This record gives sequence, structure tokens and C-alpha cells, in this order.
Amino acid sequence: MNKHQKIKFEGDREGYCNICCNYSQLTRDHIPPQGCVRPTSLELRTLTQYITKSSTKATVSQSGLKMLSICGNCNNNLLGTKYDSELIEVSKKVDNMLRVQRELGLSLPDQINLIIKPQRLIRSVIGHILAGKLPIAGKPPISAPFPDALRNYFLDQSSNIPDQVEIYYWLYPSNKQIVISSLAIGSTVGEGFISGSCLLKFYPLAFWVVWDKPTSFPINFTKIPKDKVKGLDETCEIMIDLRNIPHLDYPEVPAEDQYIMSRQDSTFLAQPKKQKGFG
Ligand SMILES: [Zn+2]
Repeated sequence: MNKHQKIKFEGDREGYCNICCNYSQLTRDHIPPQGCVRPTSLELRTLTQYITKSSTKATVSQSGLKMLSICGNCNNNLLGTKYDSELIEVSKKVDNMLRVQRELGLSLPDQINLIIKPQRLIRSVIGHILAGKLPIAGKPPISAPFPDALRNYFLDQSSNIPDQVEIYYWLYPSNKQIVISSLAIGSTVGEGFISGSCLLKFYPLAFWVVWDKPTSFPINFTKIPKDKVKGLDETCEIMIDLRNIPHLDYPEVPAEDQYIMSRQDSTFLAQPKKQKGFG
């Protein structure tokens, strides 16, 4: 895809599901799910168009970021029925805590602690990331160790988060929504290379799913604990740091000593439509 091309969100109505790889009627997935953010009028760009401030007109969507990319079973029976409610609840809790503090004029604490059901939360995050690109016409999704591991984990509800996968999260106080299903990131100062990762960011949280991270590569954020939690309804406590927040463009806009590689057709950025007169 040329960086000046407008983005497509509508492919074929039938095709291979991005999650289960079965051929069927495709359904539209809301990224993030409705209930996390209010679907509003958004301007959609690819990451490259955003970084290069491309003059190409953004694609406008009247009701949020949606992709015709997964089958009805993955969309409704798995994401919608089993997993999204946990992501929606966690997002609302964080939003409420921040809102109450602000409305009461209180200074924010250093951190907040939350009880989550990680197996449901993570499957919701991973499902929407996998849904975040248009299927290739007439072809099943490309098989590779990282996306295969994510698909298998999502589909087998008795499985645990794969050993090579870590899920980092942080507070994301921005109205830009970002979904990137393939992002490699390397260091120019010898700290190593992450060959596979994917990202979902929307107010109030960002999630970065990282494959096979070399220990030398620095990521200074908290991870979802995964060792002891197996059952869908088992819970754990997570801490959300309200002080140590990265730059809003982290990690998709690389720092000076880093470089990224991504595919044009799998990096989407949505932001509220600008008012007339503000460029
Ligand atoms: Zn499916």
C-alpha cells in the first residue's frame, strides 16, 4: 500500500476469519468494543500517514473504528459473549476512578489497584487486535509462530497465555485509538530486536502484546501476571501506575535509539474529527 492511498475498511463480505481462519460470512468488529469508548465520528489513518503527516485526506467513519474481518462466531459468541465484558468493565473502572478524583479536585494517587479476570481480559484484547486488519481476499491469514500462538490461545479457552508472550499495559490518557497487529521494534544501540508485537490503545489503557522479548530490550512497564492464573474466572490484582506514563505515541513512534517495522495494512489510528477552522 502506498502511503498516500486512502485506507480501506470494507473488503469482501465473505472470506477467511482473521481469528479462527474459517471461510464464512464476515462481520464488522468494533475496535475497541462498544461500551469501552463511545463510537463517534473519527478520522482514520495508517501509522505512516500519521507519522509523516501525509496530506492524504483521512477516511471518515461516523461510528468508530470498525473492520469487516471476523466471522460471526468469533465476533458474537466468543468476543461479544465471553470476553468483551471484562475489558469494558476494567476500562470503566479506571475511567471512573480518574473522573471521581478529578471532579472532587483530589490529587491523583501514585497508583490504583484493580482485580481483573486476566484470561477474559487478554482474550478480548487479542481478539480485537487480530480483527484489526482486512483479510487478504480469497486467502486464509498468514501462518507464523506469533499470530498462530495468539489465535490458538484465543480459541482454546483452557489454554494459558503462551510462554513467549508478555502483555504490558499502562495508563493512556488520549482520545486517539490505535490498533497495530504487527509491529517489530529494534534498538540501534545493541539492546536487541523484538520481531513480533501488537498493540491496542484507547482511553484509558494501552496494551502491548510482545513476542519473545530479548532480556536486553528495555520495556519499563508492568505486565499482566500470567503464571498462576488459568481458569476463565480466576482473578488477579494488577497495579496501574498513574505517574510513570510513557509518551502518548509510545511505542509506535520510535525513540531516537530505536526503529520500527510495520505493515501499512495493519496499523490503524483513529482520532476524533477535527472541528472546522482547526485545520
Ligand atoms: Zn472466526
